[in-house]
Amino acid sequence: MTATLPDPGLLALGADGVMTGATSGYEKRLGDMAGVYRDDDAYRRTLAERGAGAVVYRVEEHRNVGGEGALIIGTSTLYPGRYGDEFAVTRGHLHAKADRAELYYCLAGTGVMLLETLGGRSEALPLHPGEAVHVPGHWVHRSVNVGDTPFVTMFCYGADAGQDYELIRRAGGMATLVVADANGSWRARANPDHSGYPRA
Ligand code: ZN
Repeated sequence: MTATLPDPGLLALGADGVMTGATSGYEKRLGDMAGVYRDDDAYRRTLAERGAGAVVYRVEEHRNVGGEGALIIGTSTLYPGRYGDEFAVTRGHLHAKADRAELYYCLAGTGVMLLETLGGRSEALPLHPGEAVHVPGHWVHRSVNVGDTPFVTMFCYGADAGQDYELIRRAGGMATLVVADANGSWRARANPDHSGYPRA
């Protein structure tokens, strides 16, 4: 096999999520988040106030070759927000190749990585700058911004992992909601709409 080797990637990761050396990226807008938050009335009020085009999170990433063994490295910037008592989240996913793990390293802000197994375990892990979460394969994962500044993470995962975004929607949302508590902090509470994940 005479595959052309990719060049090494030299990347600079800013605390603002800007990544020098990125090869691609995308933005998620408020209008893309329909059905994600449990309090749909609160979501619709925010939609009316801010408009469907308001950017709620953005991703920059570096990819070279795809396939088994290759990496995707990038930054995720999740802007702060509240929908009822629920803090701003990314859509969340299970990797399409479910055994693929992922690293999240916090660059800025105050967040939570919400992790759930198809078998019913749920973990809400706080993340501050300098801290990382090693997400094993087979865990559904989502970022939550529990602060009032952008929550910025670096991520790294296998280029062949892919994402299943439908799993959470079909389950009525993730099992756990990360919500504001009375002390101005956050707590995890059960999502009564969650109907369980299909077993792998
Ligand atoms: Zn992932």
